[in-house]
Amino acid sequence: MEALIAALGAVLGSDAILTGSAIQERYQSPWTRLGTPLAVLRPASTQAVADSLRLASAAGVSVVPWGGRTGLVDGCLADGALAISLDRMAAVEAIDSAAGTITVQAGCVLQTASEAAAAQGLLLPLDLGARGSATIGGTIATNAGGNRVLRYGMMRDMVLGLEAVLADGTVIEAMSPLIKNNAGYDLKQLFIGSEGTLGIVTRAVLRLRPAPVSQDTAIVGVEHFSMLPRLLRRLERDLGGALSAFEVMWASFHDLVTTPPARGRPPLTGRYPFYVLIESLGGDVAGDATRFEAALAAALADGEVADAAIARSTSQREAMWALRDDVAQTAREGPIIAFDISLPISAMEAYVAAVQVDLAARWPSLGAPAVFGHLGDGNLHLIVRLADTTPAVRRAVEDVVYGPLQALCGSISAEHGVGLQKRDFLHLSRGPAEIALMRRLKLALDPRGVLNPGKVLPPAPTLLGEQP
Ligand code: ZN
Repeated sequence: MEALIAALGAVLGSDAILTGSAIQERYQSPWTRLGTPLAVLRPASTQAVADSLRLASAAGVSVVPWGGRTGLVDGCLADGALAISLDRMAAVEAIDSAAGTITVQAGCVLQTASEAAAAQGLLLPLDLGARGSATIGGTIATNAGGNRVLRYGMMRDMVLGLEAVLADGTVIEAMSPLIKNNAGYDLKQLFIGSEGTLGIVTRAVLRLRPAPVSQDTAIVGVEHFSMLPRLLRRLERDLGGALSAFEVMWASFHDLVTTPPARGRPPLTGRYPFYVLIESLGGDVAGDATRFEAALAAALADGEVADAAIARSTSQREAMWALRDDVAQTAREGPIIAFDISLPISAMEAYVAAVQVDLAARWPSLGAPAVFGHLGDGNLHLIVRLADTTPAVRRAVEDVVYGPLQALCGSISAEHGVGLQKRDFLHLSRGPAEIALMRRLKLALDPRGVLNPGKVLPPAPTLLGEQP
């Protein structure tokens, strides 16, 4: 190991390698376990990332890429491995306002890239709670989702081109800025959402959109779950494609974020089983506001909505979003287990009720799980509050939550990824042939298994020719 560190120091410069207590001094994360890496490498160029991987690979030492370290599935855990932090590769290299693209290095923080685009009158649509710490490389590696997927898609839909380094140090330069490019296999897709197991993303070209001119926001109360899909389809139709958020909060979540010690207060006077934060982004301030109000009025008249509050100022809009973003309240009474799942809207109500019954039967003192999510994307976050979150209890809760999803064609991970936390449940969402193909890809790109080992795919006794 000392020989490897010395060789890395000769290539990167000794100031680019942290060991011992210097690691904890620079890198902490309240969200995810980082473990105890052998060292943290801080390369400042693609070539330096390539050199690091080439040397580590030759020595058979594992490498774990680090971005903003705000993932929620232990994808950054680096016990006994070299961590490679991209934090010195944080530049916004170029913005092409004619083409609507931004070229960034992987360590660039999402918010920095968004602000650079906004300064040119353009929108980088990806937006999520960790915007101030998540990096472009990390959001590509995890195919991040967030608050505007309904309108603009996930990170995958914004990546036009990228550059990535393979385990053996080969640089794959796939930085095409083109929207249409069917010249052969779309190699960038191998790296998007593969959580650092197939290569390390070092740069990217992202697609930007015109910055919206109008922003209309409301919170509505809904009496019956069956009204939610009707309301969603109405707004998609009546707002002409401008609907950008349809965030549903179950009363269990709404109560937490609107009562002290939370700073938020209920935006509606009545109490409802469901609340929806609705937002529309458009290009005509007066016309869009009229259309937004008319759509909500029609929903009220048809009984889909029981009451509505429309934001009349920026501060009112921010207060509405602050409710949805105040997820920390779910942990105010003790430890939580947070889930991120997908399932068809038609199955959601019964699924949540069944999980609640199952949890209450096993842990009678347990309150209802706090549920909220990006309903327009079929994505729910379910927060289970338990005094005891030991591994055995955690596993039992996971079985209750994940167990029904296979029969519903649901997913154990909508937007957080698999990492270490969900890999043992991967078979509930992906078939044996799919998992076998994932293993063949892993073997082809990383034959020695040094890149983020143990993440996404469960360990396999033999990689090829195995019986799933
Ligand atoms: Zn989310």
